[in-house]
Amino acid sequence: MSFDQVIVLDWSAAGKPTMGKDSIWIGHATATGVTAENIATRRQAETRLAALVDAALAANQRLLLAADFAFGAPKGFTQTLTGRPHALALWDWLAARITDTDSNATNYREIVTEMNARFSGDGPFWGNGQKHETPGLPRTKPAHPPELAEHRTAEQLGHEGGLRPKSLWQLAGAGAVGAQSLTGIPMLHRLRTRHAGKAAVWPLEPSDATPIVIAEAYLSLLAPAVRAAIAQGMVQDEAQVRLHAQAFLNLAKSGQIASLMAPDQPNHTLQIEGWYLGAGQAATVRAGLDILTPPRLRNDCFAMPQGVAWTPVDEALARLRATLHPVTQAETIPLADALGRVLAADVTAQRANPPHANSAVDGYGFAHAATGAGICQLPLATGRAAAGQPFTATVPHGHAIRILTGAILPQGVDTVVLEEDCAISPTAIAFDGPIKPRANTRKAGEDLPQGAPALHIGHKLRAPDLALLAATGTTSVQTYRRLRVGVLSTGDEIVSHNAAPHQIYDANRPMLCALATGWGFDAIDLGHAPDDPTAIRDHLNRGAETTDVILTSGGASAGDEDHVSRLLAAEGNLSSWRIAMKPGRPLALAVWQGTPVLGLPGNPVAALTCALIFARPTLFTLAGAGWVEPQRFTLAAAFSKSKKAGRREYLRARLNAAGQVQVFPSEGSGRISGLSWATGLVELPDDAAEITPGTPVQYLPYSGFGLT
Ligand code: AMP
Ligand code: MG
Repeated sequence: MSFDQVIVLDWSAAGKPTMGKDSIWIGHATATGVTAENIATRRQAETRLAALVDAALAANQRLLLAADFAFGAPKGFTQTLTGRPHALALWDWLAARITDTDSNATNYREIVTEMNARFSGDGPFWGNGQKHETPGLPRTKPAHPPELAEHRTAEQLGHEGGLRPKSLWQLAGAGAVGAQSLTGIPMLHRLRTRHAGKAAVWPLEPSDATPIVIAEAYLSLLAPAVRAAIAQGMVQDEAQVRLHAQAFLNLAKSGQIASLMAPDQPNHTLQIEGWYLGAGQAATVRAGLDILTPPRLRNDCFAMPQGVAWTPVDEALARLRATLHPVTQAETIPLADALGRVLAADVTAQRANPPHANSAVDGYGFAHAATGAGICQLPLATGRAAAGQPFTATVPHGHAIRILTGAILPQGVDTVVLEEDCAISPTAIAFDGPIKPRANTRKAGEDLPQGAPALHIGHKLRAPDLALLAATGTTSVQTYRRLRVGVLSTGDEIVSHNAAPHQIYDANRPMLCALATGWGFDAIDLGHAPDDPTAIRDHLNRGAETTDVILTSGGASAGDEDHVSRLLAAEGNLSSWRIAMKPGRPLALAVWQGTPVLGLPGNPVAALTCALIFARPTLFTLAGAGWVEPQRFTLAAAFSKSKKAGRREYLRARLNAAGQVQVFPSEGSGRISGLSWATGLVELPDDAAEITPGTPVQYLPYSGFGLT
């Protein structure tokens, strides 16, 4: 459920062409910003809306059109009027009767008379802004027909934080909206009919799959922000349509609009009465204004200082760390779906854990003040306290009560004795005192008090974190959208099946996709491109559209056939970092149409090493989880090696039975079997090193890189 554009319509039932305050305004939020236009008549507005709908359809964009009037009436009205309960029956009924002209002359008051006559007393509608009387339309509020509610369910729920949605029945006076529904519904009915199959009215009919969704909005939800805009000199109506359009688009992009579009109400209520977006959820809509689209990386972000021959690994990492920031948007999701997600906001305990003081054991509870040293005998109170079955009376002073693990301490109990430490009869217990005050009990909030910080922004949620958040009453969390990691292989010789003698199988793509998945990201297979600039360009274009970061392998050096680096240099702000590291030749870093690209070496051994050392912290930072360091242990070597100065080296390694680090017999960088043989890497320092069995070395286990 997402939208590319949002239109917010502030409608008007004015009887003549009107501009400025209390006239028709259309706010339009798109990827490029928010515009607002003021329109003098309903006919002109209808033409304009139809054009905007056509443009959205032509551009293949999904559009939410939100209008500021009720789409239905309180239960019972439509049934009595039309013989059918569904709000769309009211749409048909009104559309067949209410007329309008180019000069905004409408007959809605006559139709109201007809509707009023169908109900008891003077009927539900009242209010007449015109000088002349309309028979059957009371000027002031008459006795309301007892068979109809004053407000729809959404409006009743909407009475939050000082908001007071007006009732459909009031047609004139400050803030009245009834006449807007009566003139607006026929217009939207025509729009919906004109785009039959493509437009649907939420929540009156299924709208999940239509490119145009027409919904109801209540433009007072953002009152604080609107007041601020008015103070800056903006007309109220313009501020309302602009701000609501922006908030809804932000919520659509962050995925949170789904919660506005799934009100916790029975379907028949929604379909009989209609619903406005954000009823009872004003805070979510207000928070929508604060969702910021994360900035993209700057095109020159990977620039390295000129003239540096070889960059040490640590310096390259420090530069990456300083350059990168999260690139994914925040969205609120149910806790149950949040495993592996990164928190986009701090979470505090909604509820203390434990919520109440309770017993840590099965035993007997009493007031400590009634006990002392030596044998204590206490008569048993009737009843018991168990987890989920609290004892609600007060335990008399000097009495004990049967209590089980997890049971809330009843009134009169502050201490528990273990049942194993008691002599027990049907009417009394005895134990050897003294016992410590509050023994065998847990204090309320001893784990986390209510309001205490539970987890911080940037934390990647693991199974125990879900337990903590669930226990402290969190049911949904604000997380970063999962990072989409595109993986592209390049090279004329690479194929996925049926390799001819001159071809080799693509080993990097499954490996890099699996790494990304294991790290909790969405791996997106961008396939394979031959060593041809046009093909590589096409693949990168597609990647830039569908992913947040692209990992390529192969073609990243400066040789004749290194087309990836050549293309990135010409069109993608390439910065080729010559890193003093083995294995791994230059790391190609670029920004392709706003999307960062990490060009890894083609050689699978080098590709994996560079992915673990450079791609992993890069992706974690882009995903909002912050910079990550590998886990390292200092262990004794089980091998010998004379290492030259000038570059850092990573060898495939695993532990022998004695817990010492052994390395794969061949350092040949094409030996993929060594990657699989290993359970980690040995990191040899930049300087020269003479290693013999027993020399301490740095062992970096695969598990510490999050390899699964
Ligand atoms: P390159 O970086 O393109 O010069 O490739 C270096 C070596 O890695 C060459 O032997 C390539 O054939 C090999 N290579 C490149 N990409 C892959 C891949 N996806 N799977 C297996 N080997 C590859
Ligand atoms: Mg190649």
